[in-house]
Parts: sequence; C-alpha cells; structure tokens
Amino acid sequence: MKELDIVIQNPTGLHARPAKVFVNTAKQFQSDIRVHHGTKKANAKSLISMLTLGAEAGTTIHIVVDGVDEETAMTMLATAVADGLGEAEHINQPTNQLTSQSTNQQPQDGLIRGIAAAPGIAIGPIFQLRHAEVTFTETFGGASAEETRLQTAIEQARGQLAALHQQMLTRSATNEAAIFDVHLEILDDPDLLDTVLGKISQQQPAAQAWQSTIEARAKLIAGLDDPLLAARSADIHDVGYRVLRLLVGADDQGLRLPEHPVIVIAHDLSPSDTASLPKERVLGFCTAVGGPTAHSAIIARALSLPAMVSAGVSVLELANNTPAILDGRSGTLTLNPDAQAIAQAQQMQATWRQQQETAARSAAAPAITPDGHRVEVVANVGGLADTKAAVLAGAEGVGLLRTEFLFLDRAAAPSEEEQFAVYRDIAQAMQGQPVIVRTLDIGGDKPLPYIEVPPEANPFLGERGIRLCLNRPHLLREQVRAILRAAEHGKLRIMFPMIADIGELRAARTIVEEVRAELKVPMVEIGIMIEIPSAALMADALAAEVDFFSVGTNDLTQYTLAMDRQHPSLAGKADGLHPAVLRLIGRTVEAAHAAGKWVGICGELGADPQAVPIFMGLGVDELSVSVPAIPSVKAQIRAQTLVGAKELAQKALTCATAQEVRELVR
Ligand code: PEP
Ligand code: MG
Repeated sequence: MKELDIVIQNPTGLHARPAKVFVNTAKQFQSDIRVHHGTKKANAKSLISMLTLGAEAGTTIHIVVDGVDEETAMTMLATAVADGLGEAEHINQPTNQLTSQSTNQQPQDGLIRGIAAAPGIAIGPIFQLRHAEVTFTETFGGASAEETRLQTAIEQARGQLAALHQQMLTRSATNEAAIFDVHLEILDDPDLLDTVLGKISQQQPAAQAWQSTIEARAKLIAGLDDPLLAARSADIHDVGYRVLRLLVGADDQGLRLPEHPVIVIAHDLSPSDTASLPKERVLGFCTAVGGPTAHSAIIARALSLPAMVSAGVSVLELANNTPAILDGRSGTLTLNPDAQAIAQAQQMQATWRQQQETAARSAAAPAITPDGHRVEVVANVGGLADTKAAVLAGAEGVGLLRTEFLFLDRAAAPSEEEQFAVYRDIAQAMQGQPVIVRTLDIGGDKPLPYIEVPPEANPFLGERGIRLCLNRPHLLREQVRAILRAAEHGKLRIMFPMIADIGELRAARTIVEEVRAELKVPMVEIGIMIEIPSAALMADALAAEVDFFSVGTNDLTQYTLAMDRQHPSLAGKADGLHPAVLRLIGRTVEAAHAAGKWVGICGELGADPQAVPIFMGLGVDELSVSVPAIPSVKAQIRAQTLVGAKELAQKALTCATAQEVRELVR
C-alpha cells in the first residue's frame, strides 16, 4: 500500500475539471485508490465521490493506493496533481514541489502575473464584471405590436453593430471589424427571423420567442463538434443577447459598471464587450483567460486601454473595490499597493503619457537607433481608410495589405476592375511609399461562401492561403492582374501567404510572370510570408527566389507550437516569444541577409514592446504593425541601441521558455 499527502494547488480547488482529470488518471489503474480530505473519504475513480471532498485550493489531500500497480499509479497521480490537473497555466509553484505546506492561491495582496496585452498603466479599484442576467416577465401584446418591437430592437442592434464595425475599422482592427460584420450577417438571417415570427404568430411574446430561438440555434451549432461552427455559436449568442437586451429595455448591453472608474476583471471579454467598454469608466482590464492575440487584446490596443490577459481564474475571486495597479506593459496586477507603490505608478503613468505624446509628435521621423541603425516601421492595413490613417500616423509604407477584406461578406468574388480600383487608390494614398499586397489568404478560419472547399477536419492545416489560390488559379490570376495594373500608380509589391514549399512559390511566381507578360508591364518585387516552420527552415533556398520575406508571427507561432491561435485556453501559452519561434526567425533573417534580401515582421508580435528589441537584435529590417502602434514602436526603436538589442536577442535564443524571454526583457 502507498500513501501520500499532497497539496491541491488549483486556484479554485478540486472543482469539476481538475477532479475529472484526477479521476481519469486513477481509472487507468487496477489498484484501489482512495482519497481522504479531512474527515471525508472518496473513491478516486468516481467523479461525484471526488467532488464531495470539497478540497479547496491550498488544502492537503491524502491519497491511498493499494494493488498490483500501486507504485505507478501513485507516481502518475502525484505528477498529475503537481502539473495542475489540466490547469497548469494557473499553477504558480514549481511543478515538482509536492509539499504538505498549505498555500494560498487566491492572493489578496501582492502581485498577480498574467500576459501583457495592451500597454499603459491603470490605478484604481477593481470590479468583477459579470453579465447581468436578462430577465423579463412578459405578456403578449398582440402579434403586430410584438413584431414591431422585435424589428425595432433588431434595427437598433444593427445600428450599434455598424458603429462598432466602423470604430474598429478606423482604428485598424480589421479582423475585429470583420467580427461585427459577421454579427450583422447573423442579424439578417432570414431563417432566424422566420422562426421567431412564427412563434410570435402563435402568441409568444417577442423576447421569449427570440431568446428561445437564439438559445436553440447556438446550442445546435455548438454541438456540431466543428471548431469553426462552435465559434459561430458564441457569435450567435453574442448578437442574440444584444437584441434581447434592447427588446427588454436593458440598453447597457448587460455590462453593469459602477459610476466611478474601475479596473475591470472578467473571465474573458467578447469582442463586443471589449469594444463597448465605456472609456470614461474603465481604466483597464484583466482577464482570467485569453492570449495576446485574442480579439479582446487587439481591441484593447486599438482603444489604448491598458490590459492584461491570462491572469488565471483566481482573479475572479478578488473582492470588488480592492485597490490595484494594472501594468499592461509587464502584464501585472498589484493588489493593495501602498502609498509608495501608488506614487511610483502615478509617476510611471505620467512618464508613459509623456512618452506617448513625444512618440506622436515625432511619428513622421524615421526610427533610427542611438547607434545609427534604421528599422523601417510600416503598417498592417485592411483597406483605404486604414491606409490614410497609416500615412498620418507616420507609416513608411504598408507592410501587409490584407486583401481578404475585399472578398469577405459578399456573394461573389470582386471583379478585376473592382480590385484594381482599390489597389490603385491605396497605392496613391501611400504617395510613393511601398505597399505590400498580400494575395488572398482565405480558408482556415476564414471561409468564403462562393469558394467551395470540402469540409475539412483541420481547416488550419487544410486548403488555406496560397494552396487554395493555386488550386483555383483564375482567382490568383485575376488578383495579380489587378495588382500589376495598379502598380502603375504607386510602388506595389506582391506577397504570397502560407508558403510551405518552394514549389508553391514557383507556381505562384509563374502565374505572376505570365500575367505580367500578357499585360506588358514591369515586374514588381515579390516576397513571401514566413509563417510555416518548413518555410523558415528552408529560408536559404527560398531567399534565392524572392525579393523579401515577411514573418507572420501569428501563424508561425501556432504552427510551431501546434497551438490554435484562437484556442481560448491555449492562447496564453501560444506566445511568439517562445525561443523555438525566435530561433526560426533568427534563421530566416540569417538566410535572407546572406542572399542580400530583407526581412519584415507582420504578425501582432511586431508591436509587442517586449518583442521589438528582440526582433531588432535578430536583424529584422522592417516592422509592420497596426496603425495605432506606429508612433510608439518607432519611439522604442529610437531608444534602443542595436548593440544592446543584439545582446538581448542572443540571450533570448538560449532561453528555455517564452516566459524566460519575457523576464529577460522585463
Ligand atoms: C500572421 O499570420 O502573422 C499574419 C500576419 O497573417 P494573418 O494574421 O492574416 O494570418
Ligand atoms: Mg497568417
């Protein structure tokens, strides 16, 4: 018989999820396994029995294993507990520390570390943000009146969503703008409306009819076991409740905030929650889950709202009004700061604001390090409005034009003429500065109704980006024609996404060459995105056949670490500062420079203050970032010597984890 005392470190104790992991581990063994907690005793192979233990964070459980495989069973169980029972990201202690000491995982004082999501410092009381339940006691007011109420609420929701869409577009959060487009589309779903109207005609009040229909749809879709559809289910829910709140007169979108400014704490924030946070009452936010590329983080950066994510579920236990300092640059939340810490934070806040103002004033100047090295800072844009904003923000060109915006939310592909007009306008808006036009990067998470792709088990590993275009050459040909014609009006370059193999590059280049010959126009520079590890590893061969590389850190991270970039609980770990990703980037830069070619970064990480010096040190020549980040990225480059950055980058390459890299820069 084996016995062991072990501390439960999970922030919310042995609740359902970790208990299930424990039980599943126990079930793999023949031995009889019992768990004691205080006076309670449970069969480790029964979930219900385990849950009755009520083992909270920091308490000790006593495991007794008896049987033929007791030795292995005990080792596996001890390891599973020490590794956090599926919640490793929320365990702060070293994983091999099997102590019997009690630990408190719900800090009321001290420092909580998360992931930096949007820079800036917030000082104020915390507030736990939960959606207010939508309650209604409705009587039926007659079919025609109910129908009118419903249509009015839908119209109001349409107005709100269109405004959020526009707000995101003007702040260059193109992907986030697209989310609100999807919401608008859901709102226009005729089938949804028909069902609700059918219920109203059977004397159901509008709110009830709408809520039950939305719930049923969202549930149906979530149950289809398809990650793409599951995401739609959350959207349906989001839009559905927006309309419902309007229907019942709760126009605050369920975000019940106090009148005074607060630091918001939430499990996660949906894009519409984040975009709807009133700036005058929200100083910043901290979420329990999520990652730096989550939509909430991107929106926070677009709104200049200090934010941290992935702080662990223990933050949800913090009491309202606890005074705190949130530092969105380091991703930390300091609880109950003393007067000295507050004074220090206020000083940092003042300095930060001053830096922002200085950065904005000198945004138009080039970014040159104190030791004379220039890094180009260009913009990621999704259309003409972005491009115009980019010029004003000091962009030295466009490093990534996501042409998907032209293809989304429509019934047929845009014509060559339509594309030509848009590319020409963007080229002209950039006034001779280079514009990198990325060819259509569709598929994966971005399906198009008019391009048929058979259902795929793993769309991110399927017919995506250049693969999809090479299988439908007319699509690429038409786009290339439009780009080459528009290149007469400015300095356009072409970039292919998702290159995994040199054969794809050659095939795509051949199409460009054929179109160029047909049009009898000059050739433009051609580059590829480095966003698949195979491309980074083959950078030397690829470099010989391109003019430039641009590293898409969003995808390179997801494919290197095999972590879905949108996965809610992996997002915190899918950090592009992982040394594995940095080594691939370093290798790419070396190969490119050896061939006399240049390398840019166009993923979200390009604007991460902790990543900027490392990219500089790895020899990256250009950073392409969202428009609002341009002035501060330039300012950061001006404040960092190349020599220092190189030293830092070399050290980062020898780190073992992304966290170590972040510590190094911190
Ligand atoms: C990337 O993958 O880093 C990138 C810039 O492309 P997208 O985010 O459009 O996939
Ligand atoms: Mg990509």
